[in-house]
Amino acid sequence: MRFAANRPVAFDVAYPVEALPVPLVHSATMSDEFPYQYKIEVDKAPRPRPPKETAVIDQVGCTGCEACISFCPVDCIEIVPGPEHPDFMKLVEVDLLRCIGCKLCARYCPWETIDMWSYDEGVALAPEKTVRSILYDYDPDEMNEAAEYSA
Ligand code: SF4
Ligand code: SF4
Repeated sequence: MRFAANRPVAFDVAYPVEALPVPLVHSATMSDEFPYQYKIEVDKAPRPRPPKETAVIDQVGCTGCEACISFCPVDCIEIVPGPEHPDFMKLVEVDLLRCIGCKLCARYCPWETIDMWSYDEGVALAPEKTVRSILYDYDPDEMNEAAEYSA
């Protein structure tokens, strides 16, 4: 099934080997205009075009409840290891290259920590809303100051 929930992604080598899913062989296509590089290979179908809006999770307010994951129709929200310990207080992040802007995650996040932005705004704001990313190689200086926990 193409959009099966919790389909595995390949993490980078910064996390414990026992926590890693099986590595995947296909990469999603990177947009020429997209400013960040994937840190992992994502074996999920790319969207046909960028959406008008995109969801960005403010990870400082994320409890890791995973409710958003169950609502996302394209399975583009990934679980991120906890900032202080990989297995505790996990976070989630949106794959900005795959979000279709449907707003369901923002509507149903119990902690109201997902906002919808215009695509360009969301892409620009993503690093400062992010504490830890498994997906994108953000500049640490642009990330939320809580990122100090993930150093
Ligand atoms: S629903 Fe909200 S609080 Fe729960 S994991 Fe998603 S972003 Fe975090
Ligand atoms: S806006 Fe829709 S497609 Fe984008 S992350 Fe949220 S649920 Fe998924």
